[in-house]
Amino acid sequence: MTLRAERSAQGCEADALERALRRQARRSQALLVLSALLSCLLVAAAALVIVIDPLDEPLLRAAASAFFFPFAAVILHRYKAAADRMHLAPITRNQLPEVHRILEELCREAGLSRTPRLFLTKDPSIDPCTMTPGLRPHLVLGTDFLAGCRENGTPEALRFMLAHQVGHMVLNHHTRRWLWLSTAILGTPVLRGVFIRLLEFNADLWAARAVPEGAERALALCAVGKDNYPYLHGAEQAEHWETRRDVLGQVAYLSATQVSAAERVSQLHRHGLRLRTSLH
Ligand SMILES: [Zn+2]
Repeated sequence: MTLRAERSAQGCEADALERALRRQARRSQALLVLSALLSCLLVAAAALVIVIDPLDEPLLRAAASAFFFPFAAVILHRYKAAADRMHLAPITRNQLPEVHRILEELCREAGLSRTPRLFLTKDPSIDPCTMTPGLRPHLVLGTDFLAGCRENGTPEALRFMLAHQVGHMVLNHHTRRWLWLSTAILGTPVLRGVFIRLLEFNADLWAARAVPEGAERALALCAVGKDNYPYLHGAEQAEHWETRRDVLGQVAYLSATQVSAAERVSQLHRHGLRLRTSLH
């Protein structure tokens, strides 16, 4: 491909990803509005029951649970984030300066006024590739992922993963407003999975606009780990991602709260990310 054709292809890819990001961001905003309406409806119905029939004990208990549901959901989310934080190792600027340099560049380009703190985790129960953003502006990398980027010489994968997490912040997924507004949808089966997927896809699209060459590599590393990465192909995994499911498979898919790396790459290709044809 000539240099001119390559530039034109890059421009088309960036435009397609930008359009997809705007479209998907509108969908997640619409779900957030729906969630806020559901919360208001739930609290109003509970308040009505408490006022109309305060003597019916089982009904009163149910109404009180519904009334306090949004508050309990926020406390639970914050407790989980606090429990996860206990397993994180803080990485200061004196450690891993090359990672901080990339992070600072991304934050500057994104227009963020502060660079978030960086942490490492080797806790297998915390998956930094898909973790729901907490309320504190911090970024988490997995030890296996970081070692994989270093050992396999793929700085673009590291850049993509940092950009993904910066993307969550640019899109406000870590703010108190999002947490409060999303409690009802996060408590609703099926819609919860749809919403979590949208947040991940949006952050991926944001990152793919900035680092398109790192998307497949970063997500392949997330999927198979650093030791198997040199032998496997991220684009192949996405291409063969299982979309045909039996009934139980569909139920499992809809109720899942984690998004597979293969689905994420598959979504990015669907929205215009070009296939990188090299082995990785
Ligand atoms: Zn994410």
